[in-house]
Parts: sequence; C-alpha cells; structure tokens
Amino acid sequence: MTVCSRNRISISRNRLQHNFACIRKQAGPGVEVMAMVKGDGYGHGMVDSANAFAAVGCRVFGVAELAEAVTLRQAGVTGAIFVMLGFEPAEAVSFFDYDLTPVVSQQQDILALSQAARRLGREIGVHLKVDCGMGRLGLLPADVSEFVESIEALPGIKLAGIMAHFPEADNRSAASNQTIFATYERVCRDLGDRFKGIRHIANSGATLNFPEMTCDMVRAGIALYGYYPDGTTGPDDGKDDEKLLPVMSFTTRVIQIRDLPAGSGISYGHTYTTDRPSRIAVLPTGYEDGYLRDLSNRAEVLIRGQRAPIRGRVCMNLCMVDVTDIAGVETGDEVVLLGQQGGERITADEIAGWMQTISYEVLCLFGNTNSRVHTE
Ligand SMILES: *Cc1c(COP(=O)(O)O)cnc(C)c1O
Repeated sequence: MTVCSRNRISISRNRLQHNFACIRKQAGPGVEVMAMVKGDGYGHGMVDSANAFAAVGCRVFGVAELAEAVTLRQAGVTGAIFVMLGFEPAEAVSFFDYDLTPVVSQQQDILALSQAARRLGREIGVHLKVDCGMGRLGLLPADVSEFVESIEALPGIKLAGIMAHFPEADNRSAASNQTIFATYERVCRDLGDRFKGIRHIANSGATLNFPEMTCDMVRAGIALYGYYPDGTTGPDDGKDDEKLLPVMSFTTRVIQIRDLPAGSGISYGHTYTTDRPSRIAVLPTGYEDGYLRDLSNRAEVLIRGQRAPIRGRVCMNLCMVDVTDIAGVETGDEVVLLGQQGGERITADEIAGWMQTISYEVLCLFGNTNSRVHTE
C-alpha cells in the first residue's frame, strides 16, 4: 500500500486551462501568451502546468534558470522556452542542445552564445532585456544601441526580441507604468530597421490593466494560477465566466479532538489560553509544511464548511484550531487550509494578508513544500 501525507496540495488542470484561455482572450488576437512556469509553476508543478497549458495551445514558456528549461525540455515540452535569468558562459552550448531561447543583458552572454554558435555551425536568436525602470536585471536604455551593435557584429547570433518588465503594473494608477512603457517604446523605435524582432513587456498586471501595452507577446504568471496581481477578486463589472479561478487547494485532516477546560494554555509559549470550555481540533500541519509560524493565532481554516481560527503557535508538524462553535467535528474530517469547502473559501490573498506577503509567495511555499495531486 502506498502511504501519502495527510497534507495535500490539489491542482486543477481545468482551471489552469480556463485561466490560460482568459488571458489569451484578454491579450487579444495575434498576441502570443508566454506561460511563466518558474518557481515550479508558482508551486503548481512546472512540467504538469506547462503540459496543461500546451494542451490548450500554449507555445511559449518562461522559466528563471537554465536548469529549469532543460528539465522542461527533457519532460517533452515543445515550443519556445525562455530562460530569463542568464547563464554561466560555459553553459551556452545548452541553448543549442535543448533549443532554448536566451534572454541576454551583458557582453559575456552574447560572447559565449556566439562562440558556441560558431563551434556548432548554428545560429541563435536572443532576446535583449532592458531595464526601463524596474531596477533589477537588464541593460540601461542608453546602452542598448551599442549592445545591439555588438550583437550585429558577432557571428551566429541575432536579435530576436526586446523585453522589459514593470515594477508595479498591478497598480493601475502608478505613474511608473506610463513612463516605463514610453521608455520601452522609445528604445525599440530608436533602433529603427535594426530591430525586426518581437516586443514583450506585459506581466499579468499589465495584461489585465493596460491592453495598449500587450505588444507582440505577454508574459503571464500569477493570473494563470488564478490570482489577480492586485490582490482583489477581479473587476466588479467582470463577467463570471471570464474571471480567473484559483487553481490550488491545500487540505489536511483532523487527527484528534480535544475537549479542554477554560484557562488551558495552547501550544508552545502558551500564546493562547482558552477563555471558555473549548473543543480543539489538532491538525498534522505546521511550518515544515509551509504553514508558517506567522499564521499562529491569525489564520482560519475551513471545517464542515465553516471557519475555525488557529489557536496558539503553529509548530513544526502540528497546529490547533478552535471548533467549539462547529457542530459534529470528528477525527478524520477534511480541513481546508487554502481553497473552498461548502460555501466558504480561503484564498491565497487572505493567507498572504495574515502573513504580510503576497499570493505568489503563499502559492510557491505551499505548493513546493507538499506533495501535489493533479485533478481534472
Ligand atoms: C515572473 C515574471 C513575469 C510574470 O509575472 P506575473 O506578475 O506573475 O504575471 C513576467 N516577466 C518576468 C520577467 C518575470 O520574471
């Protein structure tokens, strides 16, 4: 008999595909959608998520590291695979071996790729990353023309695309969106005939908020996993069947029910003391499972379709919830830590609020710490 952890992440393939269709529609006809599957698919499984998107027509994927791209290719994923975060010069040959697309932003990248291209007698298209105001990776706009000259001068490589990234596209009214986009457009325009490749700058936030910024391709991450980057549940006027749907749920089971008198301290540090005779359900979930200590005395879970608060500190492998007000809770009952049960729902945004972070981090944390099951 195979034995599984009681802590379980479920991933809905249908919902991944629904969200991909929503984003493709939002991006509009003729605009490619790159599915960002870095972070092991934001915790949803890189290969399984990529396969789900591919099955509904996705042809471009984005990862952070070369090693992820190789894993994707070896798993049989076809289509373009972009490596966002550069590579060691000695690894340049892998882009040819696995037919991957490099994003470049420094001389060592293009020198190494050109050398490998010449050695193999092949050619490769590179995408140039420009820092138009993100303040992260990239080349400054003022250095683009000279860098493109270097690309033109090197054998075996050509400029296939120019990309940039937004720091706050989730915020529709942030001034940076317009200035960064204007800078990006100017960089592309100033190259004139020297640049005939594709342009891409929009992440989920820009795709949803600024249709005029979708260019030739959008790079969608969080939206494909069912979350709006601004932490809302989407525009109020949005049609229900066009809403993004959360893909991940995290469940466990009650392992013991305790009836404790008033005045009982709960868990390490006794940070909670019962103020009435209380029924406490013990869950086999703790910070080792990504259910972090920040959630102590803050989070709620769903049992029998109702909310139950976490009491006391979350331990490495255990936490306690108050079920005094929920009738009929039994050992073995399913507990939803993230997701829906009955008419109630706990979202990654709500959990992120308790942890003072963002949905992205909650999804990576839960998804990449626990065993995942993919459902239709
Ligand atoms: C992660 C990432 C994206 C996707 O961002 P979301 O906000 O998840 O849509 C797009 N572009 C780059 C360069 C990224 O690193």
